[in-house]
Amino acid sequence: MDSNQIQNLVTHYPIVKDLIELKETIWFNPSFTTLEQGLPYVGLTQADIDDARDRLQRFAPYLMAVFPETLAAKGIIESELIDIPNMQQSLETHFDQKITGKLWLKKDSHLPISGSIKARGGIYEVLYRAEQLALQANLLTLDDDYAKLNSPKFREFFSQYSIAVGSTGNLGLSIGIMSAKLGFDVTVHMSADARQWKKDKLRAHGVTVIEYEQDYGVAVEAGRKAALENPNCFFIDDENSKTLFLGYAVAGERLKKQLDQHHIVVDQAHPLFVYLPCGVGGGPGGVAFGLKMAFGDHVHCIFAEPTHSPCMLLGVATGLHDEISVQDIGIDNITAADGLAVGRASGFVGRAMQRLLDGFYTLDDPTMYRFLGMLNQSENLKLEPSALAGMLGPILVSKHQAYIDLHQFTAQQLQHANHIVWGTGGGMVPAEEMQNYLAKA
Ligand SMILES: *Cc1c(COP(=O)(O)O)cnc(C)c1O
Repeated sequence: MDSNQIQNLVTHYPIVKDLIELKETIWFNPSFTTLEQGLPYVGLTQADIDDARDRLQRFAPYLMAVFPETLAAKGIIESELIDIPNMQQSLETHFDQKITGKLWLKKDSHLPISGSIKARGGIYEVLYRAEQLALQANLLTLDDDYAKLNSPKFREFFSQYSIAVGSTGNLGLSIGIMSAKLGFDVTVHMSADARQWKKDKLRAHGVTVIEYEQDYGVAVEAGRKAALENPNCFFIDDENSKTLFLGYAVAGERLKKQLDQHHIVVDQAHPLFVYLPCGVGGGPGGVAFGLKMAFGDHVHCIFAEPTHSPCMLLGVATGLHDEISVQDIGIDNITAADGLAVGRASGFVGRAMQRLLDGFYTLDDPTMYRFLGMLNQSENLKLEPSALAGMLGPILVSKHQAYIDLHQFTAQQLQHANHIVWGTGGGMVPAEEMQNYLAKA
């Protein structure tokens, strides 16, 4: 874009000025609708989520067999929901702002197998693909015990096929580890910002890692291209995959069960606010879709992005979606928040979900590091920087009268609110790397 075009954009969408200036900012979606009005635009239904849930259930015996860390949950990859009252107090003191209601953390950081939210969508899409191939080859029926996939025969069968993906790190970890375990020949195309330990871990699992000097967009394009040249290669498309999206969406009804166990009610009088770190959008978009289907209009989803990578906010606020990148408006897309360093958002997710999201905000790297240190101190929990992006949300929601007015929340409702920060990663960060993170806090 030239400076005239950018100026024009700023005139029409004043929020773009804040983005260009790398200010921490917030945009409350003026065109949110009810679930009923918004659902047709998603193009997916409860039946699609049920199908994904059932598939994950079919694979549970296999996952239990090959990943012992999933034994306790009987092969279901799910994370804990915990309350974090000390962190709530630290946030309130730090910002001199009361958070009305109660603060929770969803520990996707500690999901088995790959230690991030990508253990939902990424692993699900690999399983989907494996099932399809095995069914087509008449090696498997839907009623079989899928533990049979843990055999030399199946590994040899899958080794004829390859899987490729482009990643900033965590998606590569999930897809790489899962694909290699099944026997696929898997290649992960890694962007420059990916951490060394993630590449090392993948190589130790027998995954081919190709490194790029450029960002996520370039790594994805390289993966897409490599897959086009090989008919037996399947490219996992983080930007457009509905399969990936549905793998994430299963989280909604699972969270509902967890809240039931904690005797937490979500209804008109008890709204639920959920804060989701957003990269390309599939993870937070899929989870938000699942949450909307589980809780209807009583759940309010807000996405968080780094000031240097606000691609989803930019795409949705301007209506340009994947037709604009942060680089187009002069932003560098450089952030310590792995997984969030994405310059161009998924057009599919933005278009599907824009009516069902309450808002978006940005925060800078020092703020994420500050939360990282605070959470460690107050709750003795260690997450990676990107996973802390949601922590600012409860403060913003409690503070911004414009948002409260827009949704006509009463003081009583806010008093009974629950706030869930989706802690999206960090469980597998090596101790030494974590010390570096903590030093920056
Ligand atoms: C990938 C990732 C996200 C965001 O998911 P997207 O699907 O890219 O939007 C958030 N946090 C962490 C730690 C991630 O790895």
